[in-house]
Amino acid sequence: MTNYDITVIGGGNAALCAAITAAEAGARVLILETAPKPYRGGNSRHTRNFRCAHDGPLGPLVESYGENEYLDDLLKVTAGNTDEKLARLAIRSSEECLPWMEAHGVRFQPSLSGTLSLARTNAFFMGGGKSLVNAYYRTADALGVDVLYEAHVTHLELSGDRIARIDYTHQGDDHSIEPTAVIVASGGFQADTDWLARAWGPAAKNFLIRGTPYNRGVVLADLLDQGIDSVGDPTQCHAVAIDGRAPKFDGGIVTRLDCVPFSIVVNKQAERFYDEGEDVWPKRYAIWGRLVAAQPDQVAYVIIDSKSLDLFMPSVFPPLKADTIENLAGMLGLPLAKLCETLDAFNSACGDTSAFHPTELDGVTTTGIAPAKTNWARPINTPPFYGYSLRTGVTFTYLGLKVDETAQCFNATGPIRNLWAAGETMAGSILGQGYLAGFGMTIGTVFGRIAGREAAAYAN
Ligand SMILES: Cc1cc2nc3c(=O)[nH]c(=O)nc-3n(C[C@H](O)[C@H](O)[C@H](O)COP(=O)(O)OP(=O)(O)OC[C@H]3O[C@@H](n4cnc5c(N)ncnc54)[C@H](O)[C@@H]3O)c2cc1C
Repeated sequence: MTNYDITVIGGGNAALCAAITAAEAGARVLILETAPKPYRGGNSRHTRNFRCAHDGPLGPLVESYGENEYLDDLLKVTAGNTDEKLARLAIRSSEECLPWMEAHGVRFQPSLSGTLSLARTNAFFMGGGKSLVNAYYRTADALGVDVLYEAHVTHLELSGDRIARIDYTHQGDDHSIEPTAVIVASGGFQADTDWLARAWGPAAKNFLIRGTPYNRGVVLADLLDQGIDSVGDPTQCHAVAIDGRAPKFDGGIVTRLDCVPFSIVVNKQAERFYDEGEDVWPKRYAIWGRLVAAQPDQVAYVIIDSKSLDLFMPSVFPPLKADTIENLAGMLGLPLAKLCETLDAFNSACGDTSAFHPTELDGVTTTGIAPAKTNWARPINTPPFYGYSLRTGVTFTYLGLKVDETAQCFNATGPIRNLWAAGETMAGSILGQGYLAGFGMTIGTVFGRIAGREAAAYAN
């Protein structure tokens, strides 16, 4: 095998940004990607946008989005659980990422308007994450980066202050290489549901994993076992409520459901458990992942009537439809008497609905029931009726490798001289809890480029 300067573990956004940067600095780079080629690209192939600071209009982004405003947005969701120095570095560097991405093959959509209102803050990839990943693979190939698919890294041998050996399997055979420099970009551990269950309890076995089945945290666990510094809490992850019929892995963005604000949501005992109308859905759909996780069997059911069917983005799988609540209860497997009781109580608690406004907090609320529904509370009484099941969909976990501003990893005695980390696997260094839409790709792009630059400088 060629003598490589840098071995990159993983084949998603962070890995590719690192590999391209290192190759442009003259390094010979090998990517070890555990997925087969058609499934390369990890969670990155599911993405749609990245969050980008800018002083004035930039590419598809309108107006401006300064460092301090971006940081404030981050601090609101992490409740201050953020390494400010690293966060500022990611935010400040995001501005130069956009032209870099374009120069390396990524194309952006014209700015979006509408309910998401992200035209100022988030740049959307033309063709989504899959075409971003494909563009980067083409660029890497042109730069002479070698990629080995179905190359599953099992162990990095730490010897003193450096990684002396990488063990991996390829098509059933065991291999080892003695690397000069190593960049770990192999994501979180969310696809290992045993590990999730150790952190969360047995409920985690019922979670769905929105992204790749290949991010099982094998390299992360191996490095943590050898005393590499970690960061983050194993119970913290990004989780949302998604269509309960989504596949166990890789359902992606299309499995989200936007109907909750116009519904009642009940658990399998047909009881409501939270205010469905607390806020607009983009601000609430992440908390519903945890709410559903706390229900029996980690499942919930959304019920709407014909008045609401056209008020939200259509679902990828059509809802269950019935002319009567009796039939819908049967289709959803809900106890009929209790569902009728819950629905009657809800409908009776609805008042004047003349101010109903589907895209604003309209204050159309229930009175006299707990939990209240504080916006968009209209009786569910106009057949046909529609139902969906809801489950918790995990996006990615936050426990990771601790890095500094140069993306370097450490243990108790100091830096590991030839080990850097980028992307989801170190995102916990910045993001202690909560999530800001588009920040995952920002972290991966910024720290991937830093890791590539630093590893190349070391190897040279
Ligand atoms: C449905 C969905 C939508 C999302 N939308 C967005 C969005 O719009 N914007 C945003 O910023 N973020 C989004 N995210 C989060 C985003 O995907 C991640 O933050 C980002 O992709 C992380 O990039 P990464 O390179 O670190 O990891 P990944 O892209 O997941 O890459 C990890 C790679 O490591 C490989 N790997 C794992 N283990 C091994 C091993 N042992 N040996 C070799 N290779 C290994 C995997 O196969 C994979 O190629 C979304 C996530 C999901 C699931």
